[in-house]
Amino acid sequence: MIYVDNAATTALKPEVLDKMMPYLTSQYGNPSSIYDLGRQAKAAIEQARASVASVLGANANEVYFTGSGSEADNWAIKGMAHAAKGKHIITSAIEHHAVLHCFEYLAKNGFDVTYLPVDSHGIVNPDDLKAAIKPETGLISIMAANNEIGTIQPISQLAKIAHEGKIPFHTDAVQAFGHIPFNVSDLGVDAASVSAHKLGGPKGVGVLYIKRGTRIGQFMHGGAQEYGRRASTENVAGIVGFGHAAALAADGMEEKIKKVSSLRDSFITQVLNEIPKCRLNGHSKQRLPGNVNISFDYIEGESLLLLLDMKGIAASSGSACTSGSLDPSHVLLALGLPHETAHGSLRVSFSENNTMQEVDKIVKELVPIVARLREMSPLTE
Ligand SMILES: *Cc1c(COP(=O)(O)O)cnc(C)c1O
Repeated sequence: MIYVDNAATTALKPEVLDKMMPYLTSQYGNPSSIYDLGRQAKAAIEQARASVASVLGANANEVYFTGSGSEADNWAIKGMAHAAKGKHIITSAIEHHAVLHCFEYLAKNGFDVTYLPVDSHGIVNPDDLKAAIKPETGLISIMAANNEIGTIQPISQLAKIAHEGKIPFHTDAVQAFGHIPFNVSDLGVDAASVSAHKLGGPKGVGVLYIKRGTRIGQFMHGGAQEYGRRASTENVAGIVGFGHAAALAADGMEEKIKKVSSLRDSFITQVLNEIPKCRLNGHSKQRLPGNVNISFDYIEGESLLLLLDMKGIAASSGSACTSGSLDPSHVLLALGLPHETAHGSLRVSFSENNTMQEVDKIVKELVPIVARLREMSPLTE
């Protein structure tokens, strides 16, 4: 199998599993317990917190473990919106559903929401943010990098604009963290969501970075875990895995970016050269190292995926159809793509585990599959 759906999830790194294993077996103590077995679990959590904090450029006491990236987004957005004085909140049109659906929920519950547009490459214009700010704006949330089209937003510029209006700024950094330099101090954000399983860590563990002094309500009520702000007996093994995966991701990042982007660029060049009537979605340079998103005229993304799957290639369509909805992707529509084009998209997301041989093999399979589907398509001119 060739796995090129690393934006959906990544393979757990074997070294990460090794570090987790004791906490799934002999080291089963509850971190809140006072005897040695509990204290050891607590110490392992604190070591993981320090590790994630160091990669984020945060203080350890600003790092809160959650059950996922989605939970971190929910906590940040609902918690910060409810703690704000004003009832106007701002996000972008291309956010992950974990963010977008929180804003839709808040819109139904008394908040006034502005969805910032993006340009045809998928970038938010800082001037649009400036123009959208009102005296009653209480929260701005804009993702660091997009999961479908890989565009990287000008986060430090956007955060600076937010702070000029004394408005807190959250970013969904799930796709950025561990893949490109992402430092909360350099960027000047007040809150950031990240997730372990997108960077070689386990599923079911995320982090919300909350800068000290940021106003945010509580999301989980219960015990005193996570400085009394996120109740639940800790997912010790998951947290330990996250700490280790974050450190591994940060180690030699420049080299990995070079390697992964060369796979991406080779794939893009070959596909655009060998297949007529297709276009690259997203920005040519402000783009995640592993992300490719291409629309093919006259084709349904789902048929493409099925035929690739039959060749042992695991990729994704740019559209939301696979998740049970027939609506094309809100991200591709926000770029201004017509519905038909948005339906015919393919997302390929590489990791450092992929090779140039795999890139060539995918192109070799893709060319005749696209030709065959076009022959069958009633849309073909
Ligand atoms: C995957 C993803 C999430 C959700 O993270 P989970 O840990 O899977 O809940 C949120 N935002 C973005 C941009 C993502 O890619």
